[in-house]
Amino acid sequence: MGEILVLAEHRRGELRDITFEMLTMANRLAGENDLSVTTLFLGYESSDLSDRLKGACEKIIRMDDPELGNYNSEPYLAALEMVIKDRKPLLTLIGHTAMGMDLAPCLATRLSIPLATDCVEVSLVEGRLEVIRQIYGGKINAHLTMKAYDQYLISIRPGSAAAEAEQEKSGDMETISPPSWENLKGRRFIDYLEAALEDVDIAAADILVSIGRGIAKPENIAAAQEFADAIGATLACSRPVADKEWLPKSRQVGTSGKTVRPKIYIALGISGAFQHQAGMKNSETIIAVNKDSRAPIFNVAHYGIVDDMFKVLPLLTEKFT
Ligand SMILES: Cc1cc2nc3c(=O)[nH]c(=O)nc-3n(C[C@H](O)[C@H](O)[C@H](O)COP(=O)(O)OP(=O)(O)OC[C@H]3O[C@@H](n4cnc5c(N)ncnc54)[C@H](O)[C@@H]3O)c2cc1C
Repeated sequence: MGEILVLAEHRRGELRDITFEMLTMANRLAGENDLSVTTLFLGYESSDLSDRLKGACEKIIRMDDPELGNYNSEPYLAALEMVIKDRKPLLTLIGHTAMGMDLAPCLATRLSIPLATDCVEVSLVEGRLEVIRQIYGGKINAHLTMKAYDQYLISIRPGSAAAEAEQEKSGDMETISPPSWENLKGRRFIDYLEAALEDVDIAAADILVSIGRGIAKPENIAAAQEFADAIGATLACSRPVADKEWLPKSRQVGTSGKTVRPKIYIALGISGAFQHQAGMKNSETIIAVNKDSRAPIFNVAHYGIVDDMFKVLPLLTEKFT
């Protein structure tokens, strides 16, 4: 039976959602194609974390070593290379995260196996691997068929599937020895650096009013702030607003900003590029105001207003004051 190998990702004692998202995808694919799902857990003295994977796969391979406690590409690559060479999985899934972006291309080169990065969907059609990648800021889904090969490496965009920790499995745990670290070139993990909090913490807010390029000029921010004050919300923004320094970088939502999950996220004049969505799409309720009815933000919004935000804002503010 062919195997799908999923690389578990963890940081600072927490399994990251991407691990279970990939396992959801892997289990669906395995069910459709008579494959088995194995998770590779690289870590150090973190059996509590690896144990949590049991409900989501058939097998867990654990490598426990001080070199693997925190992500460091050199030992991680050596460990992955050893496991993939040994097990020859049909498909290896790695998160398209900072860690996966660092690992996947290098691993594909070392092992000479085809790689598709940043995929949102994976399927097997008549023995050929097909993937979907989003292009043009999420406006278009590109369907790609990989060339026929006996192994594939795919990196999965975070948020592409539900993170289901319980998938009615009871994974067997196998602990294996790490490879020799002799050829490591000396890169060391030293510490995680926490960004200094220069402003409010948008990740802690219950309600966010988030402004995008549609705000047009900094003088218009006052209207959004007035609305935010009226409903007890904190002001956040998309990247262009932070890049122009109209709001501090600490207010930026998205892949290169913060991930937020407020009770209410109100997006004003934000198109909803995937880099933005990745930081807010798990908000409990999303309300979008955009004059373009085809803006991708409406794909994740629970409520939407298609109109000029400068018409809508005063009406909303008045309603709540
Ligand atoms: C490596 C990388 C990392 C990135 N990280 C992030 C990130 O962390 N966060 C982030 O947000 N982006 C990020 N981006 C940028 C992202 O790709 C988009 O360019 C960005 O999110 C677009 O911001 P926007 O929606 O404000 O602007 P636009 O895409 O220009 O959208 C403006 C929207 O406002 C609407 N609009 C205009 N005027 C009005 C009006 N009067 N009333 C109502 N609607 C109006 C328009 O219809 C449009 O949909 C990143 C990009 C890269 C390459």
